Amino acid sequence: KAALISLVRNSELEGIEQSMRHLEARFNHKYNYPWIFFNDVPFDDTFKARTKNLTNAECIYATVPESHWSLPKWVDESRFISSLEYLGAIGVGKGWMISYRHMCRWNSGFFYRHPVLDDYDWYWRVEPDVHFFCDIDYDPFVFMEENNLKYGFNINILDDARSFPSMWRQTQEFMSEYPELIHPEADFSWIIDHKNDGEYNNCQFFSNFEIGSLDFFRSKTYNTYFDYIDRKGGFYYERYGDAPLHTLAVVLFLSKRETHFFRDIGYQHDINKQCPANLHDKCSCEPTN
Ligand code: GDP
Ligand code: MN
Repeated sequence: KAALISLVRNSELEGIEQSMRHLEARFNHKYNYPWIFFNDVPFDDTFKARTKNLTNAECIYATVPESHWSLPKWVDESRFISSLEYLGAIGVGKGWMISYRHMCRWNSGFFYRHPVLDDYDWYWRVEPDVHFFCDIDYDPFVFMEENNLKYGFNINILDDARSFPSMWRQTQEFMSEYPELIHPEADFSWIIDHKNDGEYNNCQFFSNFEIGSLDFFRSKTYNTYFDYIDRKGGFYYERYGDAPLHTLAVVLFLSKRETHFFRDIGYQHDINKQCPANLHDKCSCEPTN
């Protein structure tokens, strides 16, 4: 019960065709997991026809409900507008875009609630214009299930800290309010900057690639955390990303044993690339050092 999921615009058709060609050729033509496309507006007929044309698997087209893609009532609109202007002016990537804020919030707290995913246990997130370089000769979803994994990643980055300056403080407040929700084996060592007063070091899973458990995101624990952070307004007063939020949630609520580095899945999104070193005949990329 797994699906390849993609939030994508009609205008990104060529980009998603590129991603689909790669993932179908390297993996999905052997497994035929359904593709589920999400959009804040309905997909057009060209988009549907051309994506269907690239796979033998079922394609499902879902529209995001407006309540999952709009300013929540507790957010002060003028403070939001100031943030768009401010982050735009100081050059935070896509800091001025309203849609980017909705997108980050949707990926943080809403994708797993869409009824189209109700019957699924696992998702693999795919963006337009990404590359898959290596044959994937096994089923990563089955691998996740058999090894009791909840979250899989393959690149970590340091993101622009100016997009989420308050997230760590709010997370620490959450931890003091809900200590019982923190996993007894939670491993903070790799996200703490020990030279800087225990601040968050901004290391994060590059969440445009994720293979994950929907039940983890649907859990009461995850949603208590999401709601807590969401209520503070940082998706709009700052530019909270789903990457740091997912990262902190994985650190707080899972043991390290439940996460997996898919180092064998060669992958690229923009300038960020992961190419495994020892799979030469299965990959068409230069190994990253
Ligand atoms: P970046 O990777 O952080 O630079 O963000 P992107 O601009 O690539 O957006 C992340 C994902 O969300 C991509 O899959 C986009 O196609 C999708 N996305 C972003 N904004 C919108 C939007 O307004 N509508 C839709 N339908 N998808 C969006
Ligand atoms: Mn992207």
